[in-house]
Amino acid sequence: MSELFSDEYFMKQALIEAQTAYAKREVPIGAIIVCRNRIIARSHNLTETLNDVTAHAEMQAITAAASVLGGKYLIDCTLYVTVEPCPMCASALGWSQITKVVYGARDEKRGYQKFSTGVLHPKTIVKGGIMEDEASELMKRFFKERR
Ligand SMILES: [Zn+2]
Repeated sequence: MSELFSDEYFMKQALIEAQTAYAKREVPIGAIIVCRNRIIARSHNLTETLNDVTAHAEMQAITAAASVLGGKYLIDCTLYVTVEPCPMCASALGWSQITKVVYGARDEKRGYQKFSTGVLHPKTIVKGGIMEDEASELMKRFFKERR
């Protein structure tokens, strides 16, 4: 696989989204969805802006990607998200039957793996730890400033 289409390349794009969230004083989590090496959705956490606890980066990316594809199932798609999805987002990803999920930093407190790994679709491939230092550094900086 060429460097251009590596997991690191796409995770960098998700990190750019996370930085946009950070600049808006939102919890800095970003996500993108890639379909056949093309980015079809970009999003970041907007729970403060929208006053909506469901406005996580992943939820918005799922909705946007389905709209682009003109179908609800995200077949041949990969979600890149800077932090491990929560149970809500993991369940939504399960409904979408997305092919692959790649996340950066592990979330020991709110990540779905603490609760149930069965919420994702059984065929979905999961890969964690891609550029996790960058993702967790941004989260740590955000929460340190808020204290
Ligand atoms: Zn979530």
